[in-house]
Amino acid sequence: MLKVAFIGWRGMVGSVLMDRMRAEGDFAGFEPLFASTSQVGQSGPDIGMEIPPLADAFDTEQLAQSDIIVTCQGSDYTKQVHPELRQKGWNGYWIDASSALRMADDSIIVLDPVNREVIDNALAGGVKNFIGGNCTVSLMLMAVGGLFKQGLVEWMTSMTYQAASGAGAKNMRELVSQMKTIGESGESLLRDPASAVLDIDQCVLDAMDSPGFPVEHCGGPLAGSLIPWIDSAMESGQTREEWKGFAETNKILQTDPVIPIDGICVRIGAMRSHSQAITIKLTRDVPVDEITEILGAANDWVEVVPNTKEDSVRRLTPAAVTGRLTVPVGRIRKMNIGPEYLSLFTVGDQLLWGAAEPVRRMFRIALAHLG
Ligand code: NAP
Repeated sequence: MLKVAFIGWRGMVGSVLMDRMRAEGDFAGFEPLFASTSQVGQSGPDIGMEIPPLADAFDTEQLAQSDIIVTCQGSDYTKQVHPELRQKGWNGYWIDASSALRMADDSIIVLDPVNREVIDNALAGGVKNFIGGNCTVSLMLMAVGGLFKQGLVEWMTSMTYQAASGAGAKNMRELVSQMKTIGESGESLLRDPASAVLDIDQCVLDAMDSPGFPVEHCGGPLAGSLIPWIDSAMESGQTREEWKGFAETNKILQTDPVIPIDGICVRIGAMRSHSQAITIKLTRDVPVDEITEILGAANDWVEVVPNTKEDSVRRLTPAAVTGRLTVPVGRIRKMNIGPEYLSLFTVGDQLLWGAAEPVRRMFRIALAHLG
């Protein structure tokens, strides 16, 4: 029976992966091994069957017995363990949620509803490293992949509104702590219907400025504010997150020539769903109803939302989409700038299509390929 090792299964992405695998009945047809970097010998997740105690995630002798390794552990782990395994001659499939190997020449970035053909060609060609993409890039392509497929994108900008979850569990907790601190500071004024709103505003500002305001992980106030910087600086003046929009999109689609993509990535006080305002210069003037049809037909998860206030407020928000696999795309219209300029807005759960789901589906594809 095929052997599959799971590492990083109890982290945020890993937990969502486990939930999705349980929901889809994926724990069948292979022998699973769960490993940990810190809980060796303890119990693994409940997958509805007996499993051995947790293995050591650094034991490359044991891991090398796997046909497939699925990891959501993180880049540091990948950078340490992956080369060791390959040096030992391990030739199995490495499926990874971290960014460490994304741009490596011998890896493919996976998003099968968008690039299944690229994945199949890579499998046939002997590629062994299959890596999940950046969350914002994956969600953008789930939303507008149809336009790329039809050759309609001359260039694109994506202005993002990214949730705290993209920065990890600690940032999500800190965001809620910030909300709590702000809420408590304004509580007495809020209870008094006669209080002036500018006094409440001052109270919120004072809370944000106070030494006890929790900013250790976010770096500044996210609740009641935003942070227009994600990841490290690049020489180009972009952040690394902004650079990924261009680099990863073109790698996922294997475009030739490359399509220019840029934008500004902004962290906002949403919990776990990322939004993006997208501008596309079309390669030709295509009517909006045709655009809508192309977008909606691209995959089973994209959901076109009519460009009305009611639909946008109800269906096109982080709160509406969290926990769901659908990727709504709305506010679709031509811009004043000219008939070839398209504007739209999209939102998606960053932990589902943005992280765990492409990895889960690649695991199914690799398993079927080996079977
Ligand atoms: P995470 O929640 O920090 O989990 C990573 C590992 O930390 C766990 O597998 C676990 O490994 C260990 N850990 C230590 N204390 C823990 C605790 N109290 N609860 C749970 N786990 C604990 O990391 P993540 O956010 O899932 O990200 C994992 C990788 O996916 C990263 O490379 C990240 O860049 C990538 N990614 C993340 C996102 C995202 O939205 N966060 C999206 C796309 C890709 P042990 O069992 O070995 O201790």
